[in-house]
Amino acid sequence: MKQKKLIVIGGGAAGFFCAVNAARLCPSLKVTILEKTGKLLSKVRISGGGRCNTTHACFEVAELAKRYPRGQNFVKKTFHAFQPADTIEWFRERGVALKKEADGRMFPVTDDSSAIVQCLLHEADRYGVEISMHTEVHAVKKTAACFDILLQNGKTVTADFICIACGGFPKLSQFAWLQELGHTIVPPVPSLFTFNMPGNPITQLMGVSVEQAQVKIEGTKLMETGPLLITHWGMSGPVILRLSAWGARELAEKEYRFTVLVNWLGGENEQELRNRWADVRKEMGNQHIGNKNPFGLPARLWQFILASLSIPADKRWSDLTVKEQNLLINTLTRHSFPVSGKTTFKEEFVTCGGIQLSEINPSTSESRKIDGLYFAGEIMDVDGITGGFNFQHAWTSGWLVASSVAERCNAMT
Ligand SMILES: Cc1cc2nc3c(=O)[nH]c(=O)nc-3n(C[C@H](O)[C@H](O)[C@H](O)COP(=O)(O)OP(=O)(O)OC[C@H]3O[C@@H](n4cnc5c(N)ncnc54)[C@H](O)[C@@H]3O)c2cc1C
Repeated sequence: MKQKKLIVIGGGAAGFFCAVNAARLCPSLKVTILEKTGKLLSKVRISGGGRCNTTHACFEVAELAKRYPRGQNFVKKTFHAFQPADTIEWFRERGVALKKEADGRMFPVTDDSSAIVQCLLHEADRYGVEISMHTEVHAVKKTAACFDILLQNGKTVTADFICIACGGFPKLSQFAWLQELGHTIVPPVPSLFTFNMPGNPITQLMGVSVEQAQVKIEGTKLMETGPLLITHWGMSGPVILRLSAWGARELAEKEYRFTVLVNWLGGENEQELRNRWADVRKEMGNQHIGNKNPFGLPARLWQFILASLSIPADKRWSDLTVKEQNLLINTLTRHSFPVSGKTTFKEEFVTCGGIQLSEINPSTSESRKIDGLYFAGEIMDVDGITGGFNFQHAWTSGWLVASSVAERCNAMT
């Protein structure tokens, strides 16, 4: 019987995980990765600041799914087959131990992404996965018996199964060859970016961070609480990245022009602060307001707030006027900043959008339209917040494709 062939388009995390598992689970299957560039696993290498935030220590599927602004219902089904505990075990069995950080992010114990890269390359070698670099796929055609894959060099290769794992593309036009296959593309927009505040004096505080800030986007329901970092271009940090992920589409529609309202005190709202204000004043008494703040804010931020309200630093707490007091309470709980533009976060960014999920079977990651055509990774309309969730989706979807193709192939032989 003719040897069955799986062609994986894309040599990234999802493509590799699919290829090495398919080759292992079905030794009679010929598995080939086609990669358009001269680099393999390039995002894995640079991910997590070179440390590769491989997954997240969240083992409850329902909880895990909540970290995906797009594809939440879909991943609820896929994670039942392969979730972070399986990722940890998979890499552990191959000599790569992962460690958990305080916030749940998981990295190789070596703090070096090359542990993951080397492991995947080694597995590919061990199971005879063929890798063809500088090989860009231009089109895929379904024929009666198999698939024809048209390459940029004019050649055509054939396959019985295809896994499309070519990542996200920033422009809709780059998905044309997939639309020609009959698939619907949810238009792409970026996710995981930081907010630009050009010329805003707050940028003078670059490097200052606040542990628990609550940030709202005015006129929307978008609100997150967490660490905020002031940068030389505006604001960043987990709270901003989460907002950018949940608001990816809404903020794109606003062309990245909107107002953020920062509550520097985290959860405490204006009324709550007002209620305890008398106690705060009493406690601070005759002390100069600029010397010490009772809210645990970084000194530079506190002085910036006072200066922006024209409250002299040498004023005594007991001498604050009602007007100054109201301004201070309002600014601490609703500090308004105009945003104009975004910056893609250097540590991690993803594309929101891609192959419409209603056209993919979540049990196998196979197309519901074309038998033998599969998808894995960021090409699908799934994306997570920062923290290892995007790689987890890549591993899970790659695993599903490998299991399904191997099962079918084993049944044929
Ligand atoms: C700087 C950065 C840091 C990140 N850090 C993290 C992190 O720490 N943790 C985390 O969970 N996520 C992280 N992410 C997100 C994560 O890297 C992606 O979600 C993940 O790599 C997606 O994997 P993928 O295999 O689907 O796509 P990719 O990794 O993008 O791989 C797709 C591959 O397909 C190739 N390709 C594209 N088109 C074709 C074609 N027509 N023919 C042949 N080949 C093609 C591409 O060249 C590429 O090699 C980071 C992203 C960036 C940009």
